[in-house]
Amino acid sequence: MPKGIVISGSSNTFEIEDLNDNKIVNCIPRGIFKKDNLKVVIGDIVEYEIQNDASAIITHIYERKNFIKRPKMANISQIIFVISMKMPKPDLLLLDKQLAFAELNEIKPVICLNKIDLEDNEIVNNIEKIYTQIGYKVIKTNAKTGEGVQYIKECLKNNITAFSGNSGVGKSTLTNTLFEANLTEEGNISEHNQRGKNTTTSIRLYKIDNNSYIADTPGFSTFDIYEIESRDLAKYFIDLNKYEENCEFIGCTHIKEQKCGVKDAVEQGKIHESRYNSYCKIYEELKEKELHKW
Ligand code: GDP
Ligand code: ZN
Repeated sequence: MPKGIVISGSSNTFEIEDLNDNKIVNCIPRGIFKKDNLKVVIGDIVEYEIQNDASAIITHIYERKNFIKRPKMANISQIIFVISMKMPKPDLLLLDKQLAFAELNEIKPVICLNKIDLEDNEIVNNIEKIYTQIGYKVIKTNAKTGEGVQYIKECLKNNITAFSGNSGVGKSTLTNTLFEANLTEEGNISEHNQRGKNTTTSIRLYKIDNNSYIADTPGFSTFDIYEIESRDLAKYFIDLNKYEENCEFIGCTHIKEQKCGVKDAVEQGKIHESRYNSYCKIYEELKEKELHKW
């Protein structure tokens, strides 16, 4: 049975790229999915079948590596979080929320510090250091001139990548620069790959290379982080998580407890204060939400 990846969809038909011959096939999902309440989403790996009348139906959805609710997508392997150094100024709380979200969904996060031309090197490098120390990949770019964009391009290989970040941080400039690079290097980009001017509202995967796609999405809602329970939050702060074993109390929340390994690590400079502050703020937000649930 042929196998493909769902690259776009509108109401009930989906465009599937065959994983074998890269042909694009228009498919409709088989009725049984409705019964199971299982809906085909962009990024799904599926089996399909060509009918006698040459139409194609999706017959099977392979198990997903992950599933994001807003926007509905499956199998995203990497998110590049774009932060602008100025106009708008860096929002590290949002970044930390989104990093926790990526950890929750087992998606590899990459941090892009954009508009480095607008800020002092020292300030840029300080933010870079907070995150490289945790072990995250940080790429510094000027999307307008293309500086640093080759490093973004490198990490797109063999990934389904989505970009995320506040409006105005430079996501479109960055992706346009990436697509232009593709145009000049590979000579042409197939018609199907052209970015439609009026299609920004729907999600679509753009093939940029064999096995490499960029997901064009309106971005990710920070709302999804509220699925995490407050007591589990530290699990998704991988820098805090490391020191939990030094906490005296099982179930330590690292907020008010004494003999807390996490707070000790903050005091010793092993965990950056800005990260710990984000943790506390998000923890309070989650707590607040839990209180109002009942
Ligand atoms: P988006 O909303 O995240 O897609 O942001 P845009 O790509 O539309 O960029 C917002 C504005 O920032 C535009 O005027 C861009 O020209 C500008 N911009 C994007 N990247 C850079 C950069 O690296 N340096 C400077 N100085 N301006 C940039
Ligand atoms: Zn603790």
